[in-house]
Amino acid sequence: MSRIAYVNGRYLPRAAAMVHIEDRGYQFSDGVYEVCEVRGGRIVDERRHLDRLERSLGEMRIAMPMTRAALDVVMRECIRRNRVRGGIVYLQITRGVARRDHAFPPAGTAPSVVVTARNLDVAANERVAAEGIAVITVPDNRWARVDIKAIALLPNVLAKQAARERGAREAWFVDAQGFVSEGSSTNAWIVTADGKVVTRQADQGILRGITRAVLLDAIKAHGLALEERPFSVDEAYAAHEAFVTAASQIVMPVVRIDGRAIGEGRPGPVATALRREFHRFAEAG
Ligand code: PLP
Repeated sequence: MSRIAYVNGRYLPRAAAMVHIEDRGYQFSDGVYEVCEVRGGRIVDERRHLDRLERSLGEMRIAMPMTRAALDVVMRECIRRNRVRGGIVYLQITRGVARRDHAFPPAGTAPSVVVTARNLDVAANERVAAEGIAVITVPDNRWARVDIKAIALLPNVLAKQAARERGAREAWFVDAQGFVSEGSSTNAWIVTADGKVVTRQADQGILRGITRAVLLDAIKAHGLALEERPFSVDEAYAAHEAFVTAASQIVMPVVRIDGRAIGEGRPGPVATALRREFHRFAEAG
């Protein structure tokens, strides 16, 4: 089955799905995006993702290209046409097509919209989660507005590649004070020796992950001790457990940081339970 993408008003076979060379996403990374999990063919936590999308667009001063209801229809249609049951739907909005000039294009320039959807290998992800992943730490060299879900991701790309080249699946950014901010495409968490679940507070130093927000609800509902604060790399090395969260991975246990085993070197009980429980707290569309 050929895959279908939505591009500026049309559903096209993927090979024919193109954007203009003067799209500002291509020229300047001048755009934002969202990734939602698709589970049983339904979008998980769509409301929160669209809230964050609107916030990102507002911070970038890009107009919402269509109503939320219309975006919902397009996302569902992409899921349907691509027969996605377990996977992701990807939505990207840029400031549109205009002659190359750093300043904003003329008023009325239509934002560009691209939506794609695809199945993920859910069973393979479960196998990875059962083993746990390795992460490395890298200096956080990103811009100061990582709270915006911008498509400009070069530091994240380089960090992820560095992880791959060192046999790890994720890189954790470390700020100038030695605290972990977040992963290159995930939020970062630890469980301390005395059982506290710790993740950085949602300030401008991290992306306010939707999976993170849902998990905070799950943690509170389970009565686990929670601290939203920065944690250092040394504290992470000494943690009982570590894990990362993202829409495409839910809760992924971390068993090794910079080559050092975390806890017993296998997925811990808190991460495993939170992964199992997650969808009880998420909204299914
Ligand atoms: N942090 C970064 C830098 C990300 O790119 C992502 C997801 O892409 C996340 C955190 C997790 O966000 P969410 O849970 O909304 O997928």
